[in-house]
Amino acid sequence: MKQKSNTGARRANNPAGAVRASGRTGRFVRRITICLGVILFCVSGFYLSLIVSADDLRAEDRAQVERAITLIDKSGFTAEAFYLRNLAAFRGGDNWLNAAVAKENAYAATNFPFAVVTLYPDFFTYTLDDTERAAILLHEAKHLTGFDERHAYSFVWQNKKALGWTIDRYRDSVVWQEVRNQTMEVEPNLFVCDFNEFGDCTE
Ligand SMILES: [Zn+2]
Repeated sequence: MKQKSNTGARRANNPAGAVRASGRTGRFVRRITICLGVILFCVSGFYLSLIVSADDLRAEDRAQVERAITLIDKSGFTAEAFYLRNLAAFRGGDNWLNAAVAKENAYAATNFPFAVVTLYPDFFTYTLDDTERAAILLHEAKHLTGFDERHAYSFVWQNKKALGWTIDRYRDSVVWQEVRNQTMEVEPNLFVCDFNEFGDCTE
């Protein structure tokens, strides 16, 4: 304790030492600022490369996406609709990163944490209506906030009725059947109710 007190006294009586300490602090802050600037520059460059290496959505496709997001919002998934409207950057084709990795499905893909959502031609071709597009976008909304496949598939399957995506209207839809199969693969526990078609416990 005594020694510490003496050191403090020496510093107070030594302006040159105080100036040196202040200079060291200034250099440290400058280095941290430069490091953060370089990191920000690299992350921004990476994000921009994802955006510019993919096609933009056509106006009519963008209108379909907006209608689907409105449906998500009106169905009570306000947080997911907010993320899709305000976080997601929608693109109409693969960016360089998606092109380099295996695709999860033919409809859409999300690059987390960059919030780049790629909508493939099948998203517009095989969906019967805005409800099916909403179901796919609700899945991608989960990826926007970092959730994995298991959570995204099971969340949509458990909440599909709220969207109006029901078995009586969509059982013959290609999207319905594919999403059911993929959900069954990642979350088999939802399909153990023998008294329902496909053992689907959500029915
Ligand atoms: Zn997914």
